[in-house]
Amino acid sequence: MTDTDVLVIGAGPAGTIASTLLKRAGHRVAVVEKQHFPRFSIGESLLPQCMEYLEQAGMLAAVEAAGFQKKDGAAFAWEERSTQFRFDEQFTPGWGYTYQVERDRFDALLADQAQQQGVPITFGCSLAAIETAHTGITATLEHEDGQQQTVRARFALDASGFGRVLPRLLNLEKPSNFPRRTAVFSHIDDHISDPHFDRNKILITVHQQRQDVWFWLIPFPDGKASIGVVAPDDFFAGLPSDNSDCLNAAVAGDTRLAALLSRATLRMPARRQGGYSASVRSLHGEGYALLGNAGEFLDPVFSSGVTIAMHSASLAAGVLDRQLRGEATDWEREFARPLQQGVDTFRSYVSGWYDGRFQNVVFHPSPPEEIKRMICSILAGYAWDQNNPYVQHHQRRLTALAEICADSL
Ligand SMILES: Cc1cc2nc3c(=O)[nH]c(=O)nc-3n(C[C@H](O)[C@H](O)[C@H](O)COP(=O)(O)OP(=O)(O)OC[C@H]3O[C@@H](n4cnc5c(N)ncnc54)[C@H](O)[C@@H]3O)c2cc1C
Repeated sequence: MTDTDVLVIGAGPAGTIASTLLKRAGHRVAVVEKQHFPRFSIGESLLPQCMEYLEQAGMLAAVEAAGFQKKDGAAFAWEERSTQFRFDEQFTPGWGYTYQVERDRFDALLADQAQQQGVPITFGCSLAAIETAHTGITATLEHEDGQQQTVRARFALDASGFGRVLPRLLNLEKPSNFPRRTAVFSHIDDHISDPHFDRNKILITVHQQRQDVWFWLIPFPDGKASIGVVAPDDFFAGLPSDNSDCLNAAVAGDTRLAALLSRATLRMPARRQGGYSASVRSLHGEGYALLGNAGEFLDPVFSSGVTIAMHSASLAAGVLDRQLRGEATDWEREFARPLQQGVDTFRSYVSGWYDGRFQNVVFHPSPPEEIKRMICSILAGYAWDQNNPYVQHHQRRLTALAEICADSL
């Protein structure tokens, strides 16, 4: 591989969707992936909006047949309060369900689907250096045996996730406007015996003593689940330093979650990831664009990461297809701004979650049906639907709604 149309860095969801869409449009693509699959990755709860990109890339049938845990909504709990959103009761016409996926298996499946459609993926190979120009890019690849290789391409898509390859190499990093938070997480045999527990929903539990601390519980098939706690760093100061002990102690600190998981056992040592929120000065430049987490990552609370990654891949593939065919393109107008619109919608709700406004909305005992449907669409990932007033005027609408909810609580 020394010459191609598009070089894609990373074979996570953004990289496999983008490369497959471009290949289906008739372009030459090459993907380089630093690791070997299957490999662990966090980001296991998909949103229904993802199904559209899987369908576009011709991968949906394989995902549907793979036996992943169905997800039809999201449940929220806080002390004695609980509420749930069902994706088939949403405002935006769209998918009413999706899946909760072990990412080692899911990402390997997507990579396999991409390869079956003719996308070459070189595993164990990283992008080490790049020169960019409007005529194309020259990349230095480093194989795991130490060999280096030069590749020329008309364009590069950075889908390297938290690797953030081009932001680092091209000095594009910009600090996120979210404060630093950390997640500690693992997989468990959950042994949940509560007959009311719904395995088809992600459960988000707000810590009984701290509204800025929350847990995810993402059920998988066969009694397996993913559990994680997300908190500012000061929360962890009072907990054991060992990750597994820390996670167990955090769960024990919430009476309701501790009761639900009283018989749970860890399947693997817990992991810790902190300071994940990140941004960039620009999502594109001469000869390149940034997809998914390589661009911006907000926060895990609404499971929006994979959806944003796939949305950015789909948008970029459309613009790039036209560019490679010789049409004039405007990456700011056709890619960055439309992408940012949905990201900013999620940003408003994430901010509102941590300052308590959105929690007032979520836990309101009797929300108006139509408004609940509009909020549900955002939780389902339809954050680009301008027909939804809670998307179009996200900040203003959220603030007004939160005030009404707070008054009537
Ligand atoms: C605590 C936590 C919980 C989360 N939970 C969820 C969730 O429930 N749902 C959800 O949708 N999202 C969640 N996310 C976000 C999710 O993990 C990411 O948004 C998503 O994986 C981004 O996809 P991607 O394709 O951009 O990158 P990735 O999935 O990270 O893929 C990037 C790939 O690039 C490769 N790579 C890196 N560097 C190089 C290099 N130099 N050369 C070649 N390849 C390289 C990596 O090996 C990797 O395979 C969570 C994030 C965190 C931190």
